[in-house]
Amino acid sequence: MKGEGKALSRLILKPGREKSLKRRHPWVFSGAVAKFSGTPDAGDTIEVHSADGEFLAVAACNPQSQIVARVWAWEKREIDAAFFRDRIGRAVALRSQLLPECESVRLVHAESDGLPGVVIDRYGDIVVVQLSSAGAMRWRDAVADAVEAVVKPTTVFERSDADVLALEGQQPRVGLLRGAAPPAQVVVNEAGAMFEVDVPHGHKTGFYLDQRDNRLRLRELAAKREMLDCFAYTGGFTVNALIGGAATVTALDSSGSALELLARNVALNRLPQAECIEGDVFQLLRKMRDQARSFDLIVLDPPKFAPTAAHAEKASRAYKDINLLAFKLLRPGGLLLTFSCSGGVSRELFQKIVAGAALDAGVEAQIVEQLSAGADHPVALNFPEGEYLKGLICRVAGALG
Ligand code: SAH
Repeated sequence: MKGEGKALSRLILKPGREKSLKRRHPWVFSGAVAKFSGTPDAGDTIEVHSADGEFLAVAACNPQSQIVARVWAWEKREIDAAFFRDRIGRAVALRSQLLPECESVRLVHAESDGLPGVVIDRYGDIVVVQLSSAGAMRWRDAVADAVEAVVKPTTVFERSDADVLALEGQQPRVGLLRGAAPPAQVVVNEAGAMFEVDVPHGHKTGFYLDQRDNRLRLRELAAKREMLDCFAYTGGFTVNALIGGAATVTALDSSGSALELLARNVALNRLPQAECIEGDVFQLLRKMRDQARSFDLIVLDPPKFAPTAAHAEKASRAYKDINLLAFKLLRPGGLLLTFSCSGGVSRELFQKIVAGAALDAGVEAQIVEQLSAGADHPVALNFPEGEYLKGLICRVAGALG
């Protein structure tokens, strides 16, 4: 292996730029770099040192990225197959402890599990690996071997095709890594709800595991209610509302193929079909407002409008728009489950946007619950960026007095 047996290249920081690393934040931005010793390639393991020459961390380097280094370890240690077995073993043990019954679960949540750029999701016997940094891509084989040894699945499949790969100068890779080809139909059982997951083509690694707890909460709230599921994808919320005894469900999504899978998932659970409408949620909500339609329960789970803080303003307008329309469509006593998975929008900002939407819709509403991703999406305390999914359950009391 390149670099083995000889000293690692060093990244030397500008004076004063070691502070965030000393708080164990695992990223080095390009603006903090004074110089490199040697000419490391993307994905190489390097040492990070302060301007004074103090050792700070062992990291993966990517001179082509804004994030020039991502920390593997805070102590001087070899980054090798044993390192990945150790970290993946630790992350899997955490899920066994906290979510022992879950067969569909995120096993590794990147930085927050000490493995920058590495996401590993499990759907029963199928494990899906998503690598999104040059460093993670370099260690693909070590990651795949560790997953095989620790989890012993029948299939390890790679879905390294997230948009962020382009920022890392990496080519996407999708395909089998270990074991047997995945079956044509992967079906998971999530607390009694059955879902077909499209591992090779679906969003993320096929399914939104981060919404598990919130889907189950919705199930408890849905009885006898008329529900509108906006950005429904393959029916995570729709199926749970129907299991919970919703009177009717209307599901909206711009993707026809997602809605086809939603209908299959409803059928798989032997539930009465939802009304599916293919189209743009922004336009469909306006149309429903003009038709004076109303609902008891609305879910808003849009895609990431603001990947970074730079997009926050435009994203805020989009969140405000759909939340305002949703408040207008809710009957008195109705519930809104509203989410943002934008890293660039904080929980505080999101709450402000939703408050502004209620005000402009002319309704009085309360937050009755705060929602987030489940325990398999931990947030390392040194990495607040790990908290991307924020949700609120709001109850509409009635019109503003
Ligand atoms: N609620 C889903 C996940 C939603 S993902 C679950 O729990 O599984 C976001 C979805 O929004 C995707 O299915 C995508 O097709 C859809 N989408 C994105 N932009 C849209 C738009 N403007 N109008 C309607 N659907 C949209």
